[in-house]
Amino acid sequence: MSQPESTLSLPDAQQIARRLSAALQLPTISYEENSPSAPFLALHQLLAAQYPLVHQHLKREGINQLSLLFTWEGAQPELPGVAFLAHQDVVPAGENEANWTHPPFSGAIGDGYLWGRGVVDMKSQLITLLEAVEALLAAGFKPRRTIYLAFGHDEETGGKQGARAIVAALQQRGVQLDALMDEGGSVGGGVAPGIPGLVAVIAFAEKSYANIKLEVAARAGHASTPGRGGAIGLLSRAITRIERHPMPASLEFARPTIQALLPHLPWPFRLLFGNLWLTGGLVQMALAQTPYSNAMLRNTIAPTLLQAGYKFNVIPERATAFLNCRLLPGRQVDELLAHLRQVVQDERVQITCIDTSAPAKKPASLDTPYYHDLEKNIAAGYGPIPTCPIVMFGASDARHYEAICSRIYRFQPTCFLEPDEDRTHGVDERIKIDQLPTMVAFNARMMQSWGSR
Ligand SMILES: [Zn+2]
Repeated sequence: MSQPESTLSLPDAQQIARRLSAALQLPTISYEENSPSAPFLALHQLLAAQYPLVHQHLKREGINQLSLLFTWEGAQPELPGVAFLAHQDVVPAGENEANWTHPPFSGAIGDGYLWGRGVVDMKSQLITLLEAVEALLAAGFKPRRTIYLAFGHDEETGGKQGARAIVAALQQRGVQLDALMDEGGSVGGGVAPGIPGLVAVIAFAEKSYANIKLEVAARAGHASTPGRGGAIGLLSRAITRIERHPMPASLEFARPTIQALLPHLPWPFRLLFGNLWLTGGLVQMALAQTPYSNAMLRNTIAPTLLQAGYKFNVIPERATAFLNCRLLPGRQVDELLAHLRQVVQDERVQITCIDTSAPAKKPASLDTPYYHDLEKNIAAGYGPIPTCPIVMFGASDARHYEAICSRIYRFQPTCFLEPDEDRTHGVDERIKIDQLPTMVAFNARMMQSWGSR
């Protein structure tokens, strides 16, 4: 049923770059409110023109007008499907577009790169998924189980109109998914200490978030006669205490990462990380030293907004701070609130949760044929590099799918040789053009593997 790859005729780098460039020229920016819909509708037209076979053979639906759901019905539609996600929207180009080498929505090709806002996050994946389907259709491939392509339009602002509505539509039809691939990890050089070469990072879980408000009301007064216990002082003390008392650490979610990297680590590291029964405490302490690895160990708490005062000579009656917190899978907001109250130890500081994502579910299993397909196809594209599961700290559209899928793997086949190359959300976002055929081939292999299971 599945075609061997040799019969697939894949487009070359220049062809893919040209079609991706056209997509980059449409400023599909999502704002918190009132995102203009014209660029999205133009993108839909462009996709229809560029991928005729996809539009001929797959069912295409607009969900909430701007999100797209493609259904590629399998030969056995009664089986649970698989899904490949990408989002159409991008973040704005930043305050000063003049800082860009090429204008952010020009889709410029130069120096071996394709430049533009959203090229990494994540129009290259959106386009190379469609390139893969187009090539598979041309070769006569027919999946055994149904393949869904789901392209939300508001991932960058939470996915409430896009991914959430797509999932609601699928749920209504009783669709269950066996596995799903979305953004998250990628291939990178220098991402794991002690390993100089490339490592493929696959996020097998993500943290949830909670925004917490700290508020102090105290007596206002004249700045010339301050007393103790002003709102600003009390709030500052609370924040200092919170920073000094992080939530408890655990190696629970770092363990799979360590295990996967272990065989590739140089000797002294292998000794340290290979005997966690003995060295666990030490390893935990070492990992807590850098912000990134520390975030793998615990719920994190970051003060991000502060509001107080309105005049030089008035002691204000109110001071407010907001904390952005990221919770490990399965951890509850109640635990976080209890921790904060216990650490602050001051009833004058009101602590409330004002916004939270649903608590992230259990991590996806790493011992499934679907995960092994990912590993196998990464090796086919990039050679025998280590594949490393991690917990992702940010939130993506995939979390909305937890209701209909328990095997969610977050990986897109982009490759950064140096950590500095990843300019997601930054200035001069770009991708190497010669990487694009590797992405198409990887996506085609994934659809063959997952679609044939
Ligand atoms: Zn993204």
